[in-house]
Amino acid sequence: MNSSHASISNQVALLSLLKEHFGFTSFRPLQEEIIRDALAGRDVVALLPTGGGKSLCFQLAALARPGLTVVISPLIALMKDQVDALQANGIAATFLNSSLTAQESHDRLQSLHRGDYRLLYIAPERLMLPGSLNDLLKWQVNLLAIDEAHCISEWGHDFRPVYRRLVELRDRFPALPIMALTATATIRVRDDIRTLLRLEDGASYVASFNRPNLRYRVQAKVNPSEQVLAVLQAQPHESGIVYCQSRKATEQLAERLQAYGILAKPYHAGLPTKERIRHQELFLRDEIQVICATIAFGMGINKSNVRFVIHYDLPKNLESYYQETGRAGRDGLPSDCVLLFSAGDTVKQQRFINEKPDMKEQQIARAQLEQMVQYAESATCRRVELLRYFGEEVAQENCGACDNCLSPRDAYDGTEDVITVLSCVAQIRLKSGFGVGQNHVIEVLSGAKTEKVRRWGHERLAAYGKGKNVHSRPEWAAICRELIKLGYLQQTTEPFTILELTPQGRDFLQVRQPVMLTKPMSAPERKAAPSGDLAHDEELFNRLRQLRKKVADERDVPAYVVFSDVALRQMAREYPTNDREFLQVSGVGSRKLEEFGAIFLSTITEHLGAHSRQNFPKESSVNQSPLAARKKSLGNTVQETLRSFRSGKSVEEIAKQRGLVTSTIYSHLEQAIQAGESIDINQLLTPAHQTRIAAAFAQTGFGNLTGAKELLHDLYDYGQLRLFRAVHGKRNQ
Ligand code: ADP
Ligand code: MG
Ligand code: ZN
Repeated sequence: MNSSHASISNQVALLSLLKEHFGFTSFRPLQEEIIRDALAGRDVVALLPTGGGKSLCFQLAALARPGLTVVISPLIALMKDQVDALQANGIAATFLNSSLTAQESHDRLQSLHRGDYRLLYIAPERLMLPGSLNDLLKWQVNLLAIDEAHCISEWGHDFRPVYRRLVELRDRFPALPIMALTATATIRVRDDIRTLLRLEDGASYVASFNRPNLRYRVQAKVNPSEQVLAVLQAQPHESGIVYCQSRKATEQLAERLQAYGILAKPYHAGLPTKERIRHQELFLRDEIQVICATIAFGMGINKSNVRFVIHYDLPKNLESYYQETGRAGRDGLPSDCVLLFSAGDTVKQQRFINEKPDMKEQQIARAQLEQMVQYAESATCRRVELLRYFGEEVAQENCGACDNCLSPRDAYDGTEDVITVLSCVAQIRLKSGFGVGQNHVIEVLSGAKTEKVRRWGHERLAAYGKGKNVHSRPEWAAICRELIKLGYLQQTTEPFTILELTPQGRDFLQVRQPVMLTKPMSAPERKAAPSGDLAHDEELFNRLRQLRKKVADERDVPAYVVFSDVALRQMAREYPTNDREFLQVSGVGSRKLEEFGAIFLSTITEHLGAHSRQNFPKESSVNQSPLAARKKSLGNTVQETLRSFRSGKSVEEIAKQRGLVTSTIYSHLEQAIQAGESIDINQLLTPAHQTRIAAAFAQTGFGNLTGAKELLHDLYDYGQLRLFRAVHGKRNQ
């Protein structure tokens, strides 16, 4: 057999392994490339966003040949989860960490010596023990996967000093390929991973960090617990995380929600370990609906059906915000990210920052806070803003899934409002001889009868009550903030927080100029209509969900280990009634068919006996990769590739120049085409080649890339074929 045949059968083998073991029919972007490189013995750095499917990269590689894949993972809970999920798919996997008894460890080591496992998850501390390193020599290890690789960097959010020691493995096992995986979006951390693990010569795969299935919203924080309740009521059976800043707030909110009959628990580092772990477990197992948590909660939470993440308080910076919201919708289904924003929170945070002893730290924190506030108050696309922060440019301005895109905040002629606010500030200063904070200004504007207003005689000001019927108080607060941004007002913090006119503000009161302001965001706004792919038989879905819970409890695993929400929704849409149909469901591989097929099928059949079948349009994006499903925005890495390509460079040249592999470049070009850009295919393939490829696809259909490749005797890369397909597939639509 020549080598090209071997590679064709490898391709076929990978896809059939994917269906057989994991129940999926196609790869997510870059998964296949990453796996192929690892199998070829190359080092790989895989930078895919949360939910991008990183685990599958090393899990499938582990199954593609004999031997053991060792996975380094920083969290004990995470290891157990992943091993549970693998075992549910019938894959021999295990873990070693400090949670095991001596006897358990001993037993597992014995099995490892016998070669019983394909995957071993291990804590880095444990791996770096001399005994473990010796064991590795005996176990026929052929891949070392380092998950959550950002833990190696001090610039990341989860620095673990022990990760630094992993580089020693390079010397001990020079031939052992390493796959480092992370969802970190910052360049600095990515560089650290490459240099500290000595992966400079390896391939780097970078996917877009856009999360198309996440909907971003910012609401003025008016009555936060009500606002949380509103999100919950909009999706009464779904679960989510509410991030609060303080430990106390997590407890209070959890209590408040409980009073409304919602199953909620707090989570923070101050809880006794046992309780903390129990609350996490309850959440992972769908026993409670909401976890009210500090940022201590999250890394490595693999629960794939988190449907919302609410920020009750303002996060420290945009990176944290991105990571925390990223825990929603790992399964690719639409999920909500809601940020409750109040200027008061900003002031509170500023105070924290002022208490930091280190000036440099203060400076950084202040700049980060400012970016965060800018994000919250921005009237442009949230997604664009977030991605831009990480250096990704987005081609499409309207993402269709953030508050600003769904209901654009218009600009309006705000000249009158500006006069109202500025004169109020001026009058207070004139009458009292001192400045006051923004809150008091707004109280005067809205005609509040507070003790201070009376004491200072501010109800006699011309400005008193002038804004009462014009805007609500939060709206006035937003206007004040915009005026600060526009330079008419400034906020001084020493010794008190005071709102003052700037020279520009004083000038304005002399010579008025028209000013455009952004329409203030009002409190809770209308929600995006759920996208079509959510449509399913709700009653059957709930029934299946209960069944899943029962089955999961019997096996003592989290529900999503049995089936994902994606799978249940598909069942509640397509009503499979036999094994063949059941196998079509995403996530149903041979083991799950065998183990759960009968019981799920009989529930569906039973349901159909009493209810009529509803009709749903054939689903489009659910079974596909959620990332590929709606690639409207282009990251700047894609843009850069596109620019180089258009300037006449070949794919190989671009790859070399950018230190990426060619398949990444092909994937960039494909993303560009999907986002509506056009590329000149003649630059890639001569007309003669195009004719041959067209003939092959005509025979196999555009869906069958592997088949076409085989027909063409492996003369073309997957990348070339994909691009050809992208270009022509589009033309045919
Ligand atoms: P990450 O570690 O990158 O955040 P995970 O490995 O936890 O992501 O995967 C997220 C979800 O995507 C999981 O539920 C997983 O089963 C699913 N998934 C991974 N690869 C595929 C695929 N090729 N097709 C469908 N679903 C997939
Ligand atoms: Mg992961
Ligand atoms: Zn948007």
